[in-house]
Amino acid sequence: MDRPIQMVDLKTQYQHISSHVDEAIQEVLSSAQYVRGPQVAKFEKELATYLGVEHVIGCANGTDALQISLMALDLVPGDEVIVPSFTFIATAEVIGLLQLTPVMIDVDPSTFNLRPADVEAAITSKTKAIVPVHLFGQTADMQPILDIAATHNIAVVEDNAQSMGATYKMADGTTVKAGSMGDTGCTSFFPAKNLGCYGDGGAIFTNDADLADKIRMVANHGQSRMYYHDRIGVNSRLDSIQAAILSVKLKHLDAYNAARQKAAKTYDSFLANIEQVVTPARASYASHVFHQYTIQVPAEERDALKAYLASQQIPANIYYPVPMYEQKAFASHRPTKMEPLVHTASLCQRVLSLPMHTELSADQISRVCQAINLFFNK
Ligand SMILES: *Cc1c(COP(=O)(O)O)cnc(C)c1O
Repeated sequence: MDRPIQMVDLKTQYQHISSHVDEAIQEVLSSAQYVRGPQVAKFEKELATYLGVEHVIGCANGTDALQISLMALDLVPGDEVIVPSFTFIATAEVIGLLQLTPVMIDVDPSTFNLRPADVEAAITSKTKAIVPVHLFGQTADMQPILDIAATHNIAVVEDNAQSMGATYKMADGTTVKAGSMGDTGCTSFFPAKNLGCYGDGGAIFTNDADLADKIRMVANHGQSRMYYHDRIGVNSRLDSIQAAILSVKLKHLDAYNAARQKAAKTYDSFLANIEQVVTPARASYASHVFHQYTIQVPAEERDALKAYLASQQIPANIYYPVPMYEQKAFASHRPTKMEPLVHTASLCQRVLSLPMHTELSADQISRVCQAINLFFNK
């Protein structure tokens, strides 16, 4: 009997690298430098090299990475920040928390990401930042977004929590890593992300030395030197143990992403002939690292398909069921109810993410696809 099919399988992944991980953790335990230990600086450097950026600053989680970025950019209440309406809550939540105004815009129905023309159309005299989210493992079309931002003197904060290791092709033909293009890039090391630790963690990337200093200050109680606080900050740190684990796992990231890509290709081939299923699109400008493998099916059949799969011991999840502008949390953030955005509204009814992780076998994928086929064509 094959292993049960899971959305993610972190246990099997750990078993393959356990001796290295255990050794790395033991080293931290023996050193007793649990906070701000040498493992943190070492990992920050390794990740900077991997991404091709000047500075990496570890923090407590991906949500903090976004919040600290916006704080370090000195945005003030009333400033407008453009975000996609089809994303995880964290992206928009920190904007609300800082009393900035989230301007939620629609996404491309095939890539799920921001469209440059919509970004341009949403810009006002109050716009201070754009937060493109590289959703499900593929970047937004960054070159035009960066050009628009430069023209209007607006900051770009990349939410790269789901696309660590993905690449983007710039207009000049160079290939760069997701998260390395904006004023800052943000990521999460939540266990299930493409580069995950064994608890919570996050990081901010930038090529701007002054901004890097500000980010470090904001993340450390606004402190310029010990017990001298120049601004209101937060307390947000990457633990030494998590950094040590991440140093081990970073070495495997490209192989992990290749395994996800291989699984995605296998899904594509098994699903190609099922008329009701739209498989995920690959944009010509990006590589896709498949944080999620998200299909689209007819809205009226989506929930029944999910229930049928569950009855066959096959998990599947809906990322995301509610457009950001319909979340109750944002009800008081706008004077009038926002009109639904066509693509976001439709995606929330149509998407279904299938099991996707580094340990999926072709046989398991075949079982998932056979079940989907049976559901539609019995
Ligand atoms: C996971 C995630 C975050 C937040 O990361 P945490 O570490 O859970 O705080 C932010 N944005 C997106 C798109 C995410 O997927």
